[in-house]
Amino acid sequence: MSEEQTVSLVDVLEEDEELEEEASAVLAGSDSDHCSYPQGYVKRQALYACNTCTPKGGEAAGVCLACSYKCHEGHDLFELYTKRNFRCDCGNRKFSELQCKLYPEKEEVNSLNKYSQNFFGVYCTCGRPYPDPDDQVEDEMIQCVVCEDWLHGRHLGCLVPDCVELQEMICEACMNKNPFLWTYAAHLAVPGVAVQVKEETGTDESNTNLPKKEEKPSCKRSREEAEPSCRLKELDAIGKKRVQSGAVFWPSAWRSRLCSCNACKESLSEAGLSFLLDESDTVLAYENKGKSNEQGQQRHDPLMSALDNLNRVQQLEIIHGYNDMKTELKDFLQRFAAEGKVVTPDDIRQFFEQQQSRKRQRVDAGRFYCT
Ligand SMILES: [Zn+2]
Ligand SMILES: [Zn+2]
Ligand SMILES: [Zn+2]
Ligand SMILES: [Zn+2]
Ligand SMILES: [Zn+2]
Ligand SMILES: [Zn+2]
Repeated sequence: MSEEQTVSLVDVLEEDEELEEEASAVLAGSDSDHCSYPQGYVKRQALYACNTCTPKGGEAAGVCLACSYKCHEGHDLFELYTKRNFRCDCGNRKFSELQCKLYPEKEEVNSLNKYSQNFFGVYCTCGRPYPDPDDQVEDEMIQCVVCEDWLHGRHLGCLVPDCVELQEMICEACMNKNPFLWTYAAHLAVPGVAVQVKEETGTDESNTNLPKKEEKPSCKRSREEAEPSCRLKELDAIGKKRVQSGAVFWPSAWRSRLCSCNACKESLSEAGLSFLLDESDTVLAYENKGKSNEQGQQRHDPLMSALDNLNRVQQLEIIHGYNDMKTELKDFLQRFAAEGKVVTPDDIRQFFEQQQSRKRQRVDAGRFYCT
């Protein structure tokens, strides 16, 4: 084993502080000390729902990261991962007893917040909790970038691509609500392989047996006078077909390929989808923003590279269980110290993997990316 691949216990303990910073980078713009309410509707932030304060049957409410720590400590929280354009509800009219400790001066309600079943701890088209005590099937949860609900891989109605790390998913319901997306899908998206198709055609290009929905206008504006260059209309004119069922996976930077002519902008806005023209709306951009705060820090030591190489699920779980983890990491490292051994990146990785499988059994809400 070469010098570079090993790190002494002392080194690792010194990195502890940096690990913490790295961890917080994954939660990016989410401030763990200050309620985000004064920032208004935050473009994207980590959110939590409190089953203790606002249980099912009442009104849905969401609280920011800092409030989840400071105002709802010990409560039964659902981790909602991140959602866009949300303003912290902590302590507002929806909370009968609780007062926000961080920012009590809130309006009664935040009328522009959008709520979903996730705020009551249920997910997917099947409306189940995550983890689901009645479900023994190992399955990842993937977030739809439009409705922001989390869906089981097996309930997407399509095959989940091997690596979805950099891809964005739009669920079937959201696709059908916005049929022009099917036109883009035919050209931009990962080829669809529907899994609920009864007649197997063998290849994904010859889906002639599938019900066709092409007759639907794929753009609300399609009957208006064509602007000189509307990419959507051009794509429409090419008439390329694809399976129009199941969720759709989109490759990285697909948003930048959407038409942003005035007509398209307007119909996106009417559909509440303006964020699709905004690359900085993506979860990836959110995470990168956090990471860029970390630039300038040394990145070449084995502990940091091990963390870098973890997938997003593992990283997120580390964040959410960070404090538990810190204690356990120290215990783990003590064993090496006792045996006089050096700690390798593999040891660290193994530790995190054990952490992850333990967390998975404990965590109250699902927000897993497939890797
Ligand atoms: Zn808050
Ligand atoms: Zn609470
Ligand atoms: Zn609060
Ligand atoms: Zn499901
Ligand atoms: Zn959706
Ligand atoms: Zn256009």
